[in-house]
Amino acid sequence: MATERTLSIIKPDATRRNLTGKINARFEEAGLRIVAQKRVRLTKEQAQQFYSVHAERSFFGELVDFMISGPVVVQVLEGEGAVARNREIMGATNPANAAPGTIRADFAESVEANSVHGSDSAENAAIEIAYFFAGCEIAG
Ligand code: UDP
Repeated sequence: MATERTLSIIKPDATRRNLTGKINARFEEAGLRIVAQKRVRLTKEQAQQFYSVHAERSFFGELVDFMISGPVVVQVLEGEGAVARNREIMGATNPANAAPGTIRADFAESVEANSVHGSDSAENAAIEIAYFFAGCEIAG
């Protein structure tokens, strides 16, 4: 499997509970490397654009309000099959369905406040990474 990069976001429910280090330990223990990282507050426009694929869904407005309710940590993870590996470590969207030992099973508060985002394909990873980082901000 090839070395890949994927976009990860530690969401406001997790930064509020000071879980950044515990969550990132999961990625590092699984062999993923954090090659770019910043803690930011998303603007409403950024959150709307980032989740624009969900614009027609009933939960969109609440999701945007949640994503701007506190700081997030946006980061690039690098490693063998990083996109799929990250999704495995995160667990299912709804923590009630997430496998034991996954980040969402262990830390998520709800289907909305589910602690982490991870790109769902290599194509989206490239788009999402370029949305948050300039090439010179990524040090592999
Ligand atoms: N979400 C929500 N309600 C739902 C489904 C999703 O609030 O019924 C939120 C949740 O925070 C999720 C995000 O919308 O992580 C994006 O949804 P997606 O289906 O892309 O899930 P993910 O790829 O994050 O697992």
